[in-house]
Parts: sequence; structure tokens; C-alpha cells
Amino acid sequence: MDQRNHEAINPGPGVTQVRKLSDYFPKLYGTKGDTDVFILQGKEPGGCVLIVGGTHPNEPAGYTTARIIVENFVVEKGKVVVIPRANMSGFSHTQPLEATPAKANFSWNGKPMVIDVGSRLTNPVDQWPDQRLYKTAGNQILSGSEQRNSQQSISRESEWNTHRTGCVWNNAGYSRGKPTDIDRFARSCP
Ligand SMILES: [Zn+2]
Repeated sequence: MDQRNHEAINPGPGVTQVRKLSDYFPKLYGTKGDTDVFILQGKEPGGCVLIVGGTHPNEPAGYTTARIIVENFVVEKGKVVVIPRANMSGFSHTQPLEATPAKANFSWNGKPMVIDVGSRLTNPVDQWPDQRLYKTAGNQILSGSEQRNSQQSISRESEWNTHRTGCVWNNAGYSRGKPTDIDRFARSCP
């Protein structure tokens, strides 16, 4: 149950705004798809970068890096938008038989740090049952549990919770030339 208590992300000196993803995509409000969005605005005008971590919470490097940026970095030029825990549902459980810890302890820059670790897939509590097999947008046939892999929601939205929420941030890097909600979100630099 401790896994449902997420570690605090403490905005550092460079954070100028803390928002929710549902501020931009209201359909995520009140769902596990909602998550914190940290904005680091530099003093000088410039480009905009969107950094998404925590797609697969059992792979902690992305989330940890995004969190270190939020807690420590100061932007001088342009804007950096960071979503450290993109897949909140995945952070609420671990995968049975994988021996993944719920938390990990280490130190960064001399400071102790506790990070959340979770599952590659969204929590079955949020989306169940799995199909026996799952066909991806690219027509690849995978195990049915892959329908709870938010990475598979690239470029498409479906009735599944994983896709409804994952497509919002996934399309940032995979829009394949077609403007998406998240592209507009990043370009408009909220
Ligand atoms: Zn991954």
C-alpha cells in the first residue's frame, strides 16, 4: 500500500509554475492519467523543450533524471516543460514475480534521494481484463498485457484508460508529422 504514497517532488529554484496535465487536457481530471507538469521559464526568450519521464516506472532513469532537472536546474533562455511521472498508474504497483522494489534509495550530489519505482504497465485496477493477444498500431502481435503499455498508445487513442491517458504525452515525440494535442501544448509553451 506504501506504493500509493508517492515521493514528493520538490520544485527547485528554476521552477516558475507547477500545473496539472488536466489543466491542458480536462478529460484527464480526476483520473490516474493526471500528473504534475513543471515549467522552468528562463529570463531570456528562446525555444521550448518538453521532457517526459516515467513512461515505464520500472525503468527509473527517465523519472529520476526528470526529477533532478525539476529540483535543481535553472533555465536561462527559453522554456523547459517537465512531466516526471507520466504514467502515474504504473507507479502505483509492481509487476508480480519481477522482484521490482517499490522504492529505491541512493544519493545524488551528496543528497539522499528516495525514488518511486513501479511497473512497466498500468495497474490492472485501472484497466482490466487484458485481451489474450494485443495488436499494436503498427500491426505487431504482442501478449495481451501489452495493451496496458502506455508506450503502445503512440499516435492513437482508444477507449482503454492506458491509451486515453498515454496518447496525450506519448505523441510529443512520435507525432509523425501530424499535429497532436501535446505538440500544440509544447509549441504554445504554456
Ligand atoms: Zn521503457
